[in-house]
Amino acid sequence: MKTCPICGGKAVGRIGVDQYYCWDCLLEFNGKNEVFAIAEDGTLVAYNPQEGLR
Ligand SMILES: [Zn+2]
Repeated sequence: MKTCPICGGKAVGRIGVDQYYCWDCLLEFNGKNEVFAIAEDGTLVAYNPQEGLR
């Protein structure tokens, strides 16, 4: 089962081919552990776990 690369939790839903959503972090990520935040207008914004949201 897929776990969240940010929090390591299992509250992860599959939302597409190789795309997942963490309900705890409210962030999207893919199989390469690239993480995206969802902006208010619905677009995806690259998210760096070290830097947080810019
Ligand atoms: Zn998470």
